[in-house]
Amino acid sequence: MSSSISQPKEIHLAATQGFCAGVASAIEVVELALKKFGSPLYVRHHIVHNTMVIMDLEAKGVVFIECLDEVPSGEVVIFSAHGTSPEQYGLAKQRGVRVIDATCPLVTKVHRAAMRFSERGVQTILIGHKGHQELIGTSGYVDQNLLFVVENIKDVDQLDIAQDRPVGYLTQTTLSVSDTKGIIERLKQRFPHIQSASKSQICYATQNRQDAVLELARFCDVIIVCGSPHSSNSNRLKERAEQEGVQSYIIDMADELQAEWLTDKQCIGVTSGASVPKKIVDQTVSRIQSFYPETSLFEYENKETGINFPIPAL
Ligand code: SF4
Repeated sequence: MSSSISQPKEIHLAATQGFCAGVASAIEVVELALKKFGSPLYVRHHIVHNTMVIMDLEAKGVVFIECLDEVPSGEVVIFSAHGTSPEQYGLAKQRGVRVIDATCPLVTKVHRAAMRFSERGVQTILIGHKGHQELIGTSGYVDQNLLFVVENIKDVDQLDIAQDRPVGYLTQTTLSVSDTKGIIERLKQRFPHIQSASKSQICYATQNRQDAVLELARFCDVIIVCGSPHSSNSNRLKERAEQEGVQSYIIDMADELQAEWLTDKQCIGVTSGASVPKKIVDQTVSRIQSFYPETSLFEYENKETGINFPIPAL
């Protein structure tokens, strides 16, 4: 390597990263079900959005499916952490397939809020990413005549909603805190009496990881986000770093990291989404150190330790 190029000196790990409680418990449900029922074990949709997790579980005999027709009658199916629409529970019942529900309890709270709105005839605006599994699931809990989905401020401006009937909003749990704030402000301008659930639906894990990446962005020259391309909360971390003017890259596996991304950088931040095994972060740090052996590693106290969600009965 040329001596004229300055070498990275420090790697800083985000204080909060790695599995959130919802992901940890969903993976544990699958592991326990494998022990109890053996393989093949059917899981509807990827249990969490991470390639390594999915590959590991497939190697143990998990079969990921999208359509319940693929599950033989009498078998068990696990529903993913992102939440599943009521229609799918009904279909499983019809087919004689037993459901084990690994939906994150924080997503279930949003489902309940959606049902309460519909029971009261509230036109419900879901803020989220069209096509994301969580939004598809939550949409199923809203009366379809009262459902509106928005992704951005432009969508808000185009909403065609009856002004003389109640209107409310709910959000996906893994959105950008700052983007969502702007969308909600615009909704409040258009619908001054708009209702919301008592608490924000952006979950603690999303908020903490975005806060931690913001902290890294204050002093790092580049931020590496470990996370799969289809992971909503991982993509939001990359966006958050870039909004602060810090170059950021998202990698699914450590070997995707390129040495030239770090050229002339002094301080490298490393973080990960809520569905990323710690192993990938460790491998990423090792890869950086294989390029630049002199770097020092800095770690911080993770305030999320000790948060656990209950495991459903198998
Ligand atoms: S990111 Fe939040 S909502 Fe999603 S599984 Fe984790 S805790 Fe639950």
